[in-house]
Parts: sequence; C-alpha cells; structure tokens
Amino acid sequence: MLTATHLTKRYGDTLALDDVSLVVAAGECIALVGESGSGKTTLLRSFNRMVVPEQGQVLVNGRDVAGGDAVTLRRTLGYVPQDGGLFPHWNVQRNTELVPRLLGLTDAALLGTAALEAVGLPAARFGARRPAELSGGQRQRVAIARAIAAQPPVILLDEPFGALDAITRSDVQRAFAALQRARGITAVLVTHDLAEACRLADRVAVMRLGRIEQVATPRDLLISPATGYVSELLERAGAHPSWLL
Ligand code: ADP
Ligand code: MG
Repeated sequence: MLTATHLTKRYGDTLALDDVSLVVAAGECIALVGESGSGKTTLLRSFNRMVVPEQGQVLVNGRDVAGGDAVTLRRTLGYVPQDGGLFPHWNVQRNTELVPRLLGLTDAALLGTAALEAVGLPAARFGARRPAELSGGQRQRVAIARAIAAQPPVILLDEPFGALDAITRSDVQRAFAALQRARGITAVLVTHDLAEACRLADRVAVMRLGRIEQVATPRDLLISPATGYVSELLERAGAHPSWLL
C-alpha cells in the first residue's frame, strides 16, 4: 500500500532522512519509533506529500505521490497531526466533516456522524461541543474520527496518544486498535514509546538520525535487536515480554 524508496531529505545541515526505504502492506499497522529528531515526522509526511524528499520515490497504492493530485491523496490518506489539528472555533461535528466536505462528498454530515460513533463519541452528545469542551482523550478521538471520516484506506498518525495520561491513553489506544483491525485500515503510527509501538503495531521501524536501524515484528525486535543502538533503546524503555501480549 505504501512504498518509500531511498528517501533523502535535508533541512540546511540536518539530514532528516538519509536513504530511507520502507514498505507497508495493506491492512498493516507499522510504528515508527525513535528519539526526538530522528526523522519520524518527516518520513510520515513524505507519504502525504507534506514533505517532498530531494531524492527517492513514494508510492501510495502503486501511484507516485509526486505526480498525483492532491484530492486523490486526501481521499486515500487520513492524517492525525501531532497536535490533533482541530479547529478550536469549530464544533466537533464540523471538525469531523472537514475532509468529506473538502472532497465535495454529498453525505459529508453522515460520514462525520458515523466516524464519531466509530471512535465512541455519539454525535448527538458531542457533536455541538467545541474542542475546548472536551477532555484530552475525547479530543484525540475526534482527531482520529476526522482522519477516518472520508473512509481512507490509509491513516497516518503522529504521536496521537502522546499527551494523554496513562489510563486515557490505553482507552484511546484500544479504540484505535479495534477500529484499525475491524476496517483493515493501513496505519503508520509515529510514537517515541516502544511499549506502545510493540502493543499496537504489526511491525516496528526503529529510526535514528534519519535512518531506519531495524524493521521487525515486535517479537523479533525484542528477541533479536539488530544493532547495539536498538538493544540500548529497548533496555532504556524497560522492554518486557508482556509487551507482546
Ligand atoms: P521526529 O519526528 O523524529 O522528532 P523530525 O522528522 O521532526 O523528527 O525531524 C528530523 C530532523 O529534521 C530534526 O533534526 C529536526 O530538527 C529537523 N527538521 C524537521 N523539520 C524541519 C523544518 N521544517 N526545518 C528545519 N529543520 C527541520
Ligand atoms: Mg515528530
């Protein structure tokens, strides 16, 4: 579904992506993990063309994103930005309908309502509220609802659970995982939390200094870290077999 081949991206002297290649299968959830500044967001945004790499190629569903049109991309890839990206002066329903409306879909309101239901926020109760009138967990649910409202086959999520307290985080994680699996959505999930990556993803890509150190299933990552850096990261995070349950 997603193919990145030999991507390189520089910001001045910073090599944000250094010859990165990654393939994501349809229906797969892949986590990009790594320390702050390792290139996770840059790689994520290469898929929806918010970042244009200097070298390399990005294919979405077999099509080169460099040549494709913006509407097709928006229809194919839902996006949850790091801050949630909700418009504070719009209510929940309007925020959720945004992409279907931009796409000119006539049933935008219905799609928004259905997406809110899918993340456990009945529109009748929450639709009229503004983001400020929600808890942090509810706001992140709305951000996810907005990303899936147009029913894209792929969603890109940038640290969607990062700002939540532990209990809320596991609630929203569960809601996301159930939705992703039930609908067979292809997901790229950026996180700096290795435990979260191992719990939610089919495969984990560990990034460091703009490169991918290892891509593996959570099990293989824990059992056979490919580099000293990956071992160190696992150790620092207190890696534990219970992450695989
Ligand atoms: P991560 O998401 O893993 O924290 P990023 O992809 O945001 O990492 O950033 C990778 C590197 O590129 C960092 O060194 C960051 O400072 C730099 N970078 C990212 N975006 C920009 C930008 N718009 N301008 C300049 N430098 C940037
Ligand atoms: Mg980031």
